[in-house]
Amino acid sequence: MKRFRPLSPRSWFRSDSAGVPTAPTRADAAIQMYHCSKSYLAGSFALRDVSLEFGRGEFAFLTGPSGAGKTTLLELLFGAEHPSEGQIVVLGRNISRLGTAAVPRLRRRIGVVFQDFKLLPRLTVEENVALALDVLGTPRREARAKVFATLKQLGLQHRRYHHPLSLSGGEQQRVAIARALVNEPEILLADEPTGNLDADLTLEIMDLVVSTALRGTTVLVATHALSLVDRYAKRAVRLEAGRVTEDHRPVGGAA
Ligand code: ADP
Repeated sequence: MKRFRPLSPRSWFRSDSAGVPTAPTRADAAIQMYHCSKSYLAGSFALRDVSLEFGRGEFAFLTGPSGAGKTTLLELLFGAEHPSEGQIVVLGRNISRLGTAAVPRLRRRIGVVFQDFKLLPRLTVEENVALALDVLGTPRREARAKVFATLKQLGLQHRRYHHPLSLSGGEQQRVAIARALVNEPEILLADEPTGNLDADLTLEIMDLVVSTALRGTTVLVATHALSLVDRYAKRAVRLEAGRVTEDHRPVGGAA
């Protein structure tokens, strides 16, 4: 559902003679970054002149060694950090021009999954997932139905009254994914979602995350695990020292 009137494309960007697109090149883009840099400390850059575009329903890995800028890039897309330079358009909204009320509204359309799950230990599985809807003011009956459907989809319905710490690591991460997906986000951002899991659970969780893109959600997964990237044959954007050094798309162009 589109909740916002998109800005006029001409108002988004200044013209640029360097040959990098200065206006949206795809009508179906979910994420557009133009010449984005991020500097936390004067003189050093976590991201440097990054221009990338991701389509609706596209799946992409962000790869690169620790410190390459993967988390920073995801944080910029989520509005958790602001670019020092450049423009970012997410779901038709220019993030740097959003007022304080508009940022939370945009975030509601984005699901986020972290390596360390970030579940609340005192709440049950069901309550952890429902929290994502409570903050949106979703009516209780509708919220219950959505939570149940999402837990079922992720094979967690029998765990709904359990507390997170009584679950395995793979189950905890599935709860975190359920929480990120329960509001049917248009974008899912996952930062090393399998970093704390063993090899079997890693594949289980990755299969789940990859399948999310098949339902039309744009999915970005940051990982330094190249074996995963090879296994799934998806678009892979490599960052090194804050710069994009490769943008590899699978043969045939499948997202
Ligand atoms: P990755 O996710 O690829 O490991 P990060 O985005 O976490 O990379 O970090 C990129 C660079 O930015 C690193 O040099 C890191 O030390 C620095 N950095 C990240 N967050 C901050 C912060 N909040 N303050 C200062 N420097 C930071």
